[in-house]
Amino acid sequence: MLDRYGRTIDYMRISLTDRCNLRCIYCMPEEGIHHIPRTELLGLDEILRICSLASELGISRIKLTGGEPLVRRICVPLVRELKRLPGIRQVTLTTNGVLLKEQLPGLVEAGLDAVNISLDTLDKETFQKLTRREELDQVLMGVEAALSYHSLKVKLNCVPTFQCEEDLVKLAAFAREKPLHVRYIEMMPIGLGKEFTAKNEETVKELLEKTYGPMRPTQETLGNGPCHYYTLENFQGRIGFISALSHKFCDQCNRIRLTSTGYLKGCLQFENGADLKAKIRKGCSDEELRETIKKVIYEKPAGHNFQEKKNGKEESHIMAQIGG
Ligand code: SAM
Ligand code: SF4
Repeated sequence: MLDRYGRTIDYMRISLTDRCNLRCIYCMPEEGIHHIPRTELLGLDEILRICSLASELGISRIKLTGGEPLVRRICVPLVRELKRLPGIRQVTLTTNGVLLKEQLPGLVEAGLDAVNISLDTLDKETFQKLTRREELDQVLMGVEAALSYHSLKVKLNCVPTFQCEEDLVKLAAFAREKPLHVRYIEMMPIGLGKEFTAKNEETVKELLEKTYGPMRPTQETLGNGPCHYYTLENFQGRIGFISALSHKFCDQCNRIRLTSTGYLKGCLQFENGADLKAKIRKGCSDEELRETIKKVIYEKPAGHNFQEKKNGKEESHIMAQIGG
């Protein structure tokens, strides 16, 4: 359906949990976050009910995210059931990759269409500093495992922070050597991200061009949204940028977000939205739930606005709680 600004909203990101097996410095405090009792999380049936009604309103693509979605052992049955919903044509996953290798056979068999793997560096020491864990080898095994399924689209996501230039350049080489896309995500001032300065697209692009030659923009649509891509000579995959600050894309935003505790919201930056879990657990009808989802879609804020903070009540949660 269209929101009040005429944007088509057809994509929903679902955070399955706030918990994570890494502690990325820009996302998660060292001690982790307050543990939410399992009963407070949406269950499989509740998620499916929301997705079924949302699909009647035009949501056709779903992304499972978190926290780390794979620490919650419902991903395989959830992907299978989501793929059975008549209106859902694509189900994808964003993961840190640590548990990917072991869960991938089940996920692919259930019908997973694509996986985005977050990987900020290939250097063990920097990985440990960034994530406060020593799981780089596991993540790399997850990437290899994902590439072994030819039906699965694979992307790597990197948020440039304090990695050295060589790190950012080396990551791009993955897209030359393997059939995958590498994307650089500009740090957003949300949660712990506020403590970091974003390295912008132009800086990273200039760096990559010094090593790999000219980057040519391509209009191809390779995912669900705001990433724009470049081709490079002799590269199998593309290099992409998601630049929420330097290249704002809110006028084309197509998404809504469901938190692990069942709160549906229209924009990453603002808390405006509706508590679907409360309604479900009070026994609301499908009609009432559908109308509530419709209202959140219709009233989706015009866009994020980190300088003036004006389109609603500002989000007070960290990124792991709102699904990246
Ligand atoms: N744990 C999974 C992962 O890391 O892919 C899924 C959730 S994570 C919150 C989703 C994405 O958000 C990751 O690629 C992460 O790097 C990115 N992210 C986290 N905090 C961010 C911030 N402040 N600005 C931009 N991206 C951020
Ligand atoms: Fe975990 Fe992903 Fe946040 Fe890193 S970015 S702490 S992997 S939720």
